[in-house]
Amino acid sequence: MTTAPDSKLATLWCPSPNFGARNNGRTVDMLILHYTGMETAEGALDWLTREEARVSAHYLIDEEGRVAQMVAEADRAWHAGLGSWAGETDLNSCSIGIEIHNPGHEFGCPDFPDVQMQAVEALCRDILGRHPIPPERVLGHSDVAPGRKRDPGEKFDWARLARAGIGLWVEPVPLAGDAGLGEGDENESVTALQRDLRDYGYGVEVTSTYGKGVAQVVEAFQRHFRPLRVDGRADRSTRDTLARLFAARRASPMA
Ligand SMILES: [Zn+2]
Repeated sequence: MTTAPDSKLATLWCPSPNFGARNNGRTVDMLILHYTGMETAEGALDWLTREEARVSAHYLIDEEGRVAQMVAEADRAWHAGLGSWAGETDLNSCSIGIEIHNPGHEFGCPDFPDVQMQAVEALCRDILGRHPIPPERVLGHSDVAPGRKRDPGEKFDWARLARAGIGLWVEPVPLAGDAGLGEGDENESVTALQRDLRDYGYGVEVTSTYGKGVAQVVEAFQRHFRPLRVDGRADRSTRDTLARLFAARRASPMA
């Protein structure tokens, strides 16, 4: 039983009973970022460490940048839930989860304070120093559970993390004013879009029809990579940003 945090940045060790062993000896190669979606960090810490909640995360970062650890990195925390990435569905077994305290969409998406983002950067770098996590596998909860989750939200500063060497991110291609593809469309461009999203890692089926599920995946993509407009429509800017991302992934030394 672990009695001390893995990260020296964690000033609080608040063990949660909600964890297990990683299935099939899976090791960590993914980092998933969340927002708590609760009114206070204290409330979130209380909930994540309560048995009845059946949820947890490895870390919680409050709005002052204080880091609490709740589950040992070697163990499987219960933060991702139903989801998928790159064909894999047991994401809790391969990931470390960080809850970043922010009340989220239901409370008007307040900004993430600078002191909190400094702590997010420091903790991510610390974790990346211990585990071989490729840049393109530093993800938001919404990336792995589109339609079901919106966190950490379009206000989260992925660009800042990328400048600090955390995650894969490219400058989004500016909006071009075109309507693009959307729900109900059915053509080869939809097929190509679905293939690209799937090949990047998103859980999408290639059906050639732009259904609600595709719109939700496009929304998730936009929240992370083209946050200026999150509308679930695959306009030129969205598709070209995805193309840029592929180029960056090919050029990434760890990809
Ligand atoms: Zn989440």
